[in-house]
Amino acid sequence: MSGTLTLTIIKPDAVSKGYTGKIIDQIIGAGFQVKAMKMIHMNEREAGGFYDVHRERPFFKDLVAFMTSGPCVPMVLELPAGNAVESFRKLIGATNPANAEEGTIRKQFAESIERNAIHGSDSDENAIREGRYFFSDLEMF
Ligand code: ATP
Ligand code: MG
Repeated sequence: MSGTLTLTIIKPDAVSKGYTGKIIDQIIGAGFQVKAMKMIHMNEREAGGFYDVHRERPFFKDLVAFMTSGPCVPMVLELPAGNAVESFRKLIGATNPANAEEGTIRKQFAESIERNAIHGSDSDENAIREGRYFFSDLEMF
């Protein structure tokens, strides 16, 4: 059965433009419950560790620079009916907002493929890894 948890980050572009509240409102409106949330300003080690899988990609350095450029808001989300990862990725839309469907969070709030407003875990396994990454004290993991 697919899991009930996913991990999101409202990224520095969206936080700096004041979209945090609007984005959380849409997440809750879509049926997700916020189980944990904090505002942090990541350093290079923290952002690099989070995106470790992309370390060899040409955009890695820019991605870390962007993710450390200001505060962001990681959250653990629960969708009680299940399928949290897939449902959430549908809600946020394609990585490149130019390709994102109308009504998705990235379509509404993202600027570009890099400054794309929000993260969503891409598997149950990564949701747990990422949840632990930011909220190591949470018993749900
Ligand atoms: P995320 O993991 O942030 O939810 P994603 O799963 O849709 O996004 P990934 O392929 O995991 O996309 O890429 C991670 C992040 O790296 C993207 O959200 C984006 O900020 C950045 N990124 C991805 N591809 C590119 C690219 N070609 N050029 C610049 N930045 C990119
Ligand atoms: Mg990803």
